[in-house]
Amino acid sequence: MLFSEIVGQAILKEQLVQTVHENRISHARLFLGPEGAGSLPLAIAYAQYVNCTDRGEREPCGKCPSCVKFKKLAHPDLHFVFPVIKPGSGKAAVSDMFIREWRETVTANPYITYNRWLEVMGGDNKQGGIFVDESKEILNKLSFKTYEAEFKVMIIWLAEKMNRQTANKLLKILEEPPEKTLFLLIAESADQILPTILSRTQVTRVPKIDTQSLADYLAAAGLCDTQKALGTAHISNGNLAVALDVLQASDESDYYLEMFIRMMRACWSVWGKKQAMLDLLAWCEQITQLGREQQKAFLLYCLRMVRENFTLNQQQPSLVFLTDAENDFSQKFNAFIHPDNVSQLAGELNTAYYHIESNGNKNLVFLDMACKIVVLLKH
Ligand SMILES: [Zn+2]
Repeated sequence: MLFSEIVGQAILKEQLVQTVHENRISHARLFLGPEGAGSLPLAIAYAQYVNCTDRGEREPCGKCPSCVKFKKLAHPDLHFVFPVIKPGSGKAAVSDMFIREWRETVTANPYITYNRWLEVMGGDNKQGGIFVDESKEILNKLSFKTYEAEFKVMIIWLAEKMNRQTANKLLKILEEPPEKTLFLLIAESADQILPTILSRTQVTRVPKIDTQSLADYLAAAGLCDTQKALGTAHISNGNLAVALDVLQASDESDYYLEMFIRMMRACWSVWGKKQAMLDLLAWCEQITQLGREQQKAFLLYCLRMVRENFTLNQQQPSLVFLTDAENDFSQKFNAFIHPDNVSQLAGELNTAYYHIESNGNKNLVFLDMACKIVVLLKH
């Protein structure tokens, strides 16, 4: 992983590179930042830079034997710890069980999210964790000398998923770190991490990706044109994983547009027509038939439509990206999305997205969301 492959985060990359130039490599660093901001790729690039035998001013060389192995995430001195699902049969639950899947997945997309990772492990409806067996494994791996690198690196992804027992054992290691060992912890939420771990690590805060960098990346990667890239970057809130989902959702936009129009019409008509409530229930029935990923994609689509209609409502047509069919519908509909309801509407869609993602009852989530929209449209 090269720094140039990471979207945005220019200041942070510079700071990390400086720690190497100034010989300030901390033995334990915590990358703390929201999902989709790039903490994992930053940690990998940093580790690669530290161990590169021919590093440049700002980048690992990408060619030395160490870099070549880092590229495949298969360097013998690079270890990963990440949440896993517990195997049935009372076997130890450790990262190495899934290391092949992990390498494949992260090489293809280092902006992996926790939920995607659960899916990869086939644990869509299970909870993952970093369990106590893992701490033995960590000790084991650290007891060997480095094979060939200057630093042995242990990357712990989503350190907040460590249970207390694991965290306490890790703490002991962090207190007396083995020589030439680099712990790079990654976490999305500081409040779920033991304060003692926080105090023993150098914290690097990873901000959301700025809108322009995210938009530039989407356009440069050929995923969409520049205007759509900007619109997508705006609603994804600096989260690259969400941005990619939004773009995918727009590929299925005909169906989502139809569902969006039906939902909004039924919500609006509930006040006048008895039939409308039945329409709304039928709509809920249909949307709950979709798979979870499609439901999430639909909600992201709704968020985009709300944003674009609000922009239209604010008389900024040059900032709007809509397909012809969406534009036809929005010419009248934008009157219903205005400063008095736009943030609450977006809030309801986000809440529904969160509940679907955390496996909430689909019927309740969508019906509840629709009822809130009924009220907000009348605002
Ligand atoms: Zn190199």
